[in-house]
Amino acid sequence: MHMRDSDAALAGAYPESRSSDSLLEQARSATLKGECVRARKLYTEVLMLEPHSILAYLERSLAHLRLAFPDLAAGDAYRALLLVDMARECDEEITPEIAEMEAKTFSCLSIALREIDCHEDSMRYEEIGTKRYPEFNFEVPGHTPRKEATLREGEWRREVYPWNNMEPDRFSDKTLEVLNAAMAKCSAKAELKVVDLPVLQRDLSFAGDGDRSSDKHLGVYAKEDIFLGETFFSEASPLTVVADPENSSLCEYCGGNLPDQYEVCDDCWEGDEDSGVMWCSEECRQKAFKSYHPALCGRDFTWLYRDVNATANVHPLALPDVKYLYGVSRPPLKHIPAIALPFNFTHQVLQPIQMLQEMDVDIFDPKYLDFFDLWVMQTVRAKFISVASARISSKTRRTELAAVHALYSMFNHSCEPTVTWECESEVKFTGFSRHKKPSESAAPIVAVKKGDECWTHYCDVRMEYKDRQRDAFGSLGGKCVCRRCVEEEAEDKRVNGVPDEE
Ligand SMILES: [Zn+2]
Ligand SMILES: [Zn+2]
Ligand SMILES: [Zn+2]
Repeated sequence: MHMRDSDAALAGAYPESRSSDSLLEQARSATLKGECVRARKLYTEVLMLEPHSILAYLERSLAHLRLAFPDLAAGDAYRALLLVDMARECDEEITPEIAEMEAKTFSCLSIALREIDCHEDSMRYEEIGTKRYPEFNFEVPGHTPRKEATLREGEWRREVYPWNNMEPDRFSDKTLEVLNAAMAKCSAKAELKVVDLPVLQRDLSFAGDGDRSSDKHLGVYAKEDIFLGETFFSEASPLTVVADPENSSLCEYCGGNLPDQYEVCDDCWEGDEDSGVMWCSEECRQKAFKSYHPALCGRDFTWLYRDVNATANVHPLALPDVKYLYGVSRPPLKHIPAIALPFNFTHQVLQPIQMLQEMDVDIFDPKYLDFFDLWVMQTVRAKFISVASARISSKTRRTELAAVHALYSMFNHSCEPTVTWECESEVKFTGFSRHKKPSESAAPIVAVKKGDECWTHYCDVRMEYKDRQRDAFGSLGGKCVCRRCVEEEAEDKRVNGVPDEE
């Protein structure tokens, strides 16, 4: 029989264990007790033992729904459907058990997508499902969206998932040591410090990632006086994305302009400037080879560019360039709204799978399950997005370059900044004041005194306070209440009275 053969093949590839049934039982009873985080962990263990278990993906998807993570639920349901397709390819006819699971999976996927406001995708899968299984009831009995899911308003939260134990403690000595070693390469005059804030100042401080649930404050401080107009910090991006490297005159590694004599890869260069990646220097070529090029060499990535290196045996969240980016936060204090990002089923579920397949990664292989589970990719994505900056091409008015600067994102915001920044292929900080200009003749003016914090700006500080607060809201994770904002708001209310509504 066909089914036997494919079972035997699977068993050969991934040795079966008798305990997966008992793990499934434990997972179900955990779910009944409302212990969904534990249930999720048990289902993941089942998948380690039985990587092609449609049932485990389906039930883990339901657990994610109950945990109010509809994005992760959609990812699991989609993987379950891929497995059903694989079973169909082997046997043409699928068993009634698999058919029933497929019907349930379509329903689960469509509900998850509806909860995260991807209504078009949701309707598409419900339609395919009802066509294939007209008798099936497409609601999960007893399932009502959790309040948190509704609160997300079709977005996914930048949060540390309850089972994510890979985030470093941002205030620990170890973290500070790693970050200051990196800082030393970017600046001789700046250092990172953790400062305990007096209670009164607590609300005046911003960590830039919405994490204000602590009395501690991480910021960049001057080791020596920094003068107006003095560029004291310069950081190259460990991850640069050239929007369309095969059609641009930018270096694929650093995003700098290409000289007449550029470097290429001997293996994948086809002698045509329109169809290959180019580097500005031997240094950039070597860096590309050391990190990601071998994983991409000769493969078709015209629809997407650089991502986490799949050839190294390092967990994506443990890569130093990723680990210390603070894009995710613990659930914040009640009065601070969670930071949410838009969710797109194609970009966040379908394309990463397509990309991994292009790199010959079997997403069901237990050795990759932990690496490329959707929550890992969502976390990496949130981290990059929160610290990424982009440059618009003056010719096409479209994004031509995006970069990630870990230390740049550690400078905190004030509407009365003492430093300002500019971003080419490197990001640079310079001493700054709204009130004074550096002058050639007179003695240099101190912008940041030794020992003081370097305050940058996440918005145009020439605007009035309401516009500044609106512009900086996303990066701050809340309304700016710096001293200048507080004073200007009080003055506005004194002169114009208190408005009827906020
Ligand atoms: Zn370069
Ligand atoms: Zn190559
Ligand atoms: Zn402000």
